[in-house]
Amino acid sequence: MMKIGGLIQHYIPIIFALCEKQDHAEFDRLCDRAYSKDVLDVNFPFCKPISEISALENRRYWSQVYIVRGMSVRVTSQWFDPPTSKSRPFLLRYLERQGIGVIDAARTDPVSAAIDNSVIEQTKKLSRGRYKGNAIGNAQNLVVRNILSNLGTEDFGEKHWRQVIEDFGGLCVYCGQDSELVMDHVVPINRQSLGEHRLGNLVPSCKGCNAIKGDKDFRAFLSAQPDRIAVIETHMDRHDYVPVSENEQIRQIIELAHKEIVQVASRYIDILNTLTVGQNVKRGET
Ligand SMILES: [Zn+2]
Repeated sequence: MMKIGGLIQHYIPIIFALCEKQDHAEFDRLCDRAYSKDVLDVNFPFCKPISEISALENRRYWSQVYIVRGMSVRVTSQWFDPPTSKSRPFLLRYLERQGIGVIDAARTDPVSAAIDNSVIEQTKKLSRGRYKGNAIGNAQNLVVRNILSNLGTEDFGEKHWRQVIEDFGGLCVYCGQDSELVMDHVVPINRQSLGEHRLGNLVPSCKGCNAIKGDKDFRAFLSAQPDRIAVIETHMDRHDYVPVSENEQIRQIIELAHKEIVQVASRYIDILNTLTVGQNVKRGET
């Protein structure tokens, strides 16, 4: 028999899909402590926007984040497990009332089922069936880049950048040549590396090195040249740049933004398709 935790995790995406598509008010109710106690027999609100989860409550909510009605929420982990499970009949009754078919719980793999079903579905929908018509990945990456580029309060202008070039003797930091120089982010600005657009993360690079380095971290790119790595690290220190790559919380939130872009697009596609259902969409004629 599946544990109550596994059972509820399987149904979370389904319950949230219902809040999203059929019953908006149900989401508000599920954020309410009394309602949650009443219908699900849990001592905490069924779900909570992550912005409202205090440090103390943190461990009472599963780390998996869901996006519901434009909000990032987590679901309470405080369910009573068998054999003393009083919550199970409450949950089953709730699902029935909501018109959610109860599956043969024992056969379901709760973990894989719960992993962001709705986002996976939406990504499929957005990338289905139109040749080269899917730009959502680019949009997602650009949003991540924009977020990472604007963290913190550091200001700098062209003269500061000129100073950095001078600090490196007007040479490419990777190969030492003095050909035409461009800005290179030593820690790349993407959701894997979490680099930022800060002076301490910017170095002059020739176009060749910049192209070859691509999305690699500077340490990987310069693995055979520890002296050059040290020069860059000194530059980072001088400008108080501490990469956030190891910060799991930041990583999770960036992942969230990355996923939410798919949902934003999907929501508007649904709205427009609803609007034009049963009529021929009038296309602009040229
Ligand atoms: Zn170079």
